[in-house]
Amino acid sequence: MLIDLHTHSTASDGTDTPAGLVAAAAEAGVRVLAITDHDTTAGWAAAAAQAERSGVLLVPGAEVTCRAGARGGVTVHLLSLLHDPAHEPLAAALAASREGRLDRARRMTELLSEDFPITWDDVLARAASGAVVGRPHVADALVAAGVVRSRDEAFASLLADGSPYVLRLGAPHPVDAVRLVRAAGGVPVIAHALASARGRVLSEELLEEMAAAGMAGVEVDHRDHDEAARARLRDFAAASGLLTTGSSDYHGTGKANRLGEHTTSREAFERVLAEGTGAPVAGAELVLP
Ligand code: AMP
Ligand code: FE
Ligand code: FE
Ligand code: ZN
Repeated sequence: MLIDLHTHSTASDGTDTPAGLVAAAAEAGVRVLAITDHDTTAGWAAAAAQAERSGVLLVPGAEVTCRAGARGGVTVHLLSLLHDPAHEPLAAALAASREGRLDRARRMTELLSEDFPITWDDVLARAASGAVVGRPHVADALVAAGVVRSRDEAFASLLADGSPYVLRLGAPHPVDAVRLVRAAGGVPVIAHALASARGRVLSEELLEEMAAAGMAGVEVDHRDHDEAARARLRDFAAASGLLTTGSSDYHGTGKANRLGEHTTSREAFERVLAEGTGAPVAGAELVLP
């Protein structure tokens, strides 16, 4: 039974609609799927409806953007699984992040438009209506304008961390985000904590602070983690009594990641179910694991 607890749809920067994502998961043999769009729960309803049709157990979630440290600091992504979407403090924090992202993407596009033929309308045209806007949509506009050939090429050049065209995102501190997710009944799992190719990674000290604040788990098996990173995270999780997950971080055609390429054990998933207050949406034919 394939369990994939970290995926994206067009509600953020994936390229499959929420329903398409669930259908693709069923096709790929994934029986338990979390939808974890960046800073939004907007895809949940359509994904749930499709889950019932596809016989997939859908775990509603989100990937909360966080930032720690001074002078740029480090970006941290915290998965929240099974939280209450109506919990006001968490909902307000996600809404603030979405607004900050829009403003940042608009200002980044202004900077780029001084040197390249792209406009804000071009970027908006690359995002689904109401989608949480991010660098991938700016990348798509650059591809459409013929400036680069792919999202990958954009992220390796104009949109790389440290590029003068890339502006910082305002975001909650990861320790505060862990507390917020718990308060909302969610299960906080840190995503790709040691993905060094994505830029600076967080310190062991911050990981410990997050664990002390109530973090439930650590994403270990992820394509951006090498063997050494996985071993370190597995040791950290064991020492701290945290669960470990594996997941695809699937984004559709915008990234090479395949659904179910890394998966989570049934035991770890049972802990997620026990710790979250929300319920997964079960496809009609599905026998709970
Ligand atoms: P942002 O949140 O706007 O700073 O953009 C970061 C997002 O871009 C992350 O969600 C990544 O999944 C995505 N991303 C990072 N590198 C790449 C890449 N090479 N190709 C496609 N998407 C990427
Ligand atoms: Fe993404
Ligand atoms: Fe992420
Ligand atoms: Zn992700």
